[in-house]
Amino acid sequence: MKSEGMSKDSGETKIVRTTSAFDCGGRCPIRLHVRDGVIIRVEGDDTAGPDEQLRACLRCRAYRKHIHHPDRLKYPLKRVGPKGAGEFDRISWDEAYNTIVEKLKYVKEKYGNSSIFLASGGGYLAALHNGASAMARLFNQIGGFSTSYGNVSSEGAVWACLTQYGSVMVGNSREDLLNSKLIILWGWDPARMISGTNTMYHVIKAREAGAKIISIDPRYTDSAVVLADEWVPIKPGTDTAVMASMAYVMIKEDLHDQAFLDKYTLGFDKFKDYVLGIEDGIEKTPAWAEAISGVPTVTIEQLAREYATTKPAALMDCQGPARSAIGEQYNRCAMTLCAMTGNVGRPGGSAGGGLMGIPVGHMFRASGIPAGKNPAEAGGPSVRGTLDLNLRLARRVHINKMHDAFLKGKKGGYPFDVKFLWSVANNHLNQLGDANKGARAYASLDFMVAPELFMTPTARYADIVLPVTSPAERNDLTRPWPSGPYYTHINQAIEPLGECKSDLDIATDLAERFGIKDFKPFTDEEYLRMFVEKNPETGPEVKDYEKFRREGVHRVKLPEPIVAFKEQIEDLENNPFPTPSGKIEIFSQRAADIENPEQVPPIPKYRRTKEDRFDPLTEKYPLQLISPHPKTRDHSSLYKVEWLQEVEPHRAWINSKDAEARGIEDNDEIYVFNDRGKIAIKAWVTERIIPSVISISEGTWYDPDEQGIDRGGCVNVLTSDDYSPGGAAILKTALVQVSKA
Ligand code: SF4
Repeated sequence: MKSEGMSKDSGETKIVRTTSAFDCGGRCPIRLHVRDGVIIRVEGDDTAGPDEQLRACLRCRAYRKHIHHPDRLKYPLKRVGPKGAGEFDRISWDEAYNTIVEKLKYVKEKYGNSSIFLASGGGYLAALHNGASAMARLFNQIGGFSTSYGNVSSEGAVWACLTQYGSVMVGNSREDLLNSKLIILWGWDPARMISGTNTMYHVIKAREAGAKIISIDPRYTDSAVVLADEWVPIKPGTDTAVMASMAYVMIKEDLHDQAFLDKYTLGFDKFKDYVLGIEDGIEKTPAWAEAISGVPTVTIEQLAREYATTKPAALMDCQGPARSAIGEQYNRCAMTLCAMTGNVGRPGGSAGGGLMGIPVGHMFRASGIPAGKNPAEAGGPSVRGTLDLNLRLARRVHINKMHDAFLKGKKGGYPFDVKFLWSVANNHLNQLGDANKGARAYASLDFMVAPELFMTPTARYADIVLPVTSPAERNDLTRPWPSGPYYTHINQAIEPLGECKSDLDIATDLAERFGIKDFKPFTDEEYLRMFVEKNPETGPEVKDYEKFRREGVHRVKLPEPIVAFKEQIEDLENNPFPTPSGKIEIFSQRAADIENPEQVPPIPKYRRTKEDRFDPLTEKYPLQLISPHPKTRDHSSLYKVEWLQEVEPHRAWINSKDAEARGIEDNDEIYVFNDRGKIAIKAWVTERIIPSVISISEGTWYDPDEQGIDRGGCVNVLTSDDYSPGGAAILKTALVQVSKA
């Protein structure tokens, strides 16, 4: 057996060092065993030493079943049946290109460039081949296009971090968890949702070294089962109330770090007035929070005392609970608690904020093919430094409102009417709120192209479907999500299947038909080399590109764990926080300037919302629905892999009390429904979820029957297509009812 970066189809088994490009939260070196053009085995990183290894999760262990799945698209297709019916005929690339060019020219001429919409997602995220950038480059060169704003995963947390810290790099490197004496997993389940490769390894090590671990979650999660000393069940959407009451206990018992607050923060006095009820007459006592959250007063008091007096302690909030009606307040309040306990910028502490990113190797800092300026967005308002979503949405549509914009266009107040959709590397119908509305939106479009690996529920509505290569069929670069510090090289393992092409090749072919010269002036190889050598971060770091390529990973050696804002805490005068005041802004003047104190309070606040547990709608729909990431998929990617379906069958978590009240037994088929739609799914009757809450993993594929009941169990049939004032997609604030099927 031979180990090298590139596969040569010579009949012998070769090991190709590479990585996936999933939108998974990790980035793990894997070794693909390839024989006769087929991946026959997958192994993980073989670096010696458990601290050094970057261990792959079960998703990439099944990578070959995804790449070689019999349902992979291999030829261009044109729709011959009704939209959504999935009836397509094979066509040639020439026919596909001619149809697309003709339609693009027509739409451009008749409706203008803003009627061309580029919708991209996280189907594969790498430097050169990532779905969006190649087509953005082409569209810009023919006059521009419209697109969406924001990301579904983390927009609320991003807004919160920018408000409070002026930065999204708010994480400590994971080995720093070993310095913690207390770790609070607040809505965070790292065993299921990868928040940086090896995160779980370091949490386990911290546990073994004696750190106490508390999980606060409506579910007794896998992480809690394995790690937690204590599980604090909580009702969804009430985290901020519990946090505010913890602050109340700390203030009343003088447990907060006033010296830290005085030196490093702005506006604690205003937050204190809110917490003590001086501002609004309501003291945020633990009893007040118990009535909202279901967490007993005594538990809140203990939690507050323990967190305030155990030094250092890492409060790990995340992005999940922030994908809710006013979710950014959860992250803001968590950051405030981190400051109140003096844990920001301290080894073993945490800055909160949910993003957990370190500034080395982070995917936010990737380079890629330049798209150029978008003429259709020229003259828009400057959004630099603003927290006002209205400015960001002057030229764009919020991603969770994209389908609404397709349906309503300018008449609905959106900045454009969409006539031509390029929908790439996403499965938006499935993954955005209100999937039934999504289906109506795609059915309403004049023309749609979907470059894809599989015939997804979204692609079924396309007029032309183009077969795209997977990351195993091309070379590329990737970077880890939040926790680096390393860079990865994707080495091509197999030849493109069937007639698959990369997005960049597709854009280049189309550019040629538009008469654009030099659209792709460099080969893939030249681009990748340039991305590494010219990037100010990777250039000085990766001295030997060939070695990096061969090994598939380059590790950055850090002299010590990265601790977010350490420089600010050690020397604030010379290293102010990147906020207008130079301090941690518990009070944000930029938020105050938006003049919407109910929805955008300048200090973190608990707020009642639509479809919360007190909404009168609970009379009709009494259960709160949450939709965590699946353990066995990368959102809706990998859905087709039977191995993974077997590992964790798709079932709705329902507490035995709620099940009994409805005559439901374990594994019964049930309906879950609200005014937005109805899905059929099997029930998992369990005490691992609290009463009045139901949990359904996102990502199974939408598959409505003739009555409109989704047989695929796609949770987004039930979720909302709204967004929070901070831009979070509201996918975890939804009320439903359940009945036996
Ligand atoms: S975390 Fe992501 S890259 Fe790593 S093994 Fe899992 S799916 Fe693959």
